[in-house]
Amino acid sequence: MKGPLPLDMQGPYPLEWVDYFVSDAQKPGAYILSQDGKVHQVVGRADSSLGEAIKQRAKRGNYSFFWFKYTETPEEAFYTECHWWHLFNPPHSPTHPTPPEGTDWKCPECAS
Ligand SMILES: [Zn+2]
Repeated sequence: MKGPLPLDMQGPYPLEWVDYFVSDAQKPGAYILSQDGKVHQVVGRADSSLGEAIKQRAKRGNYSFFWFKYTETPEEAFYTECHWWHLFNPPHSPTHPTPPEGTDWKCPECAS
């Protein structure tokens, strides 16, 4: 991964429209959840099925808005998650992202 990623997320959108905006059911990607559409409270990713991941995570909090970005690979999803996590310091996901089991991917920002 070379240099910082652009901040090319889409949103914020109302969560009830997730099926409309995140219509490609298989794609990996990264997402952000928010209760007010301003504070980036949760940063997460999906190795596949981004829309499902957003809906599952949104059940664990009173969230109303989301941002998202599709990625081509799970690796890119992880790097995007890391980048956003460092950028927004999300209060509802305070633990640094971890790569999928069986990979040795490192955060491009802090190498953890
Ligand atoms: Zn990091």
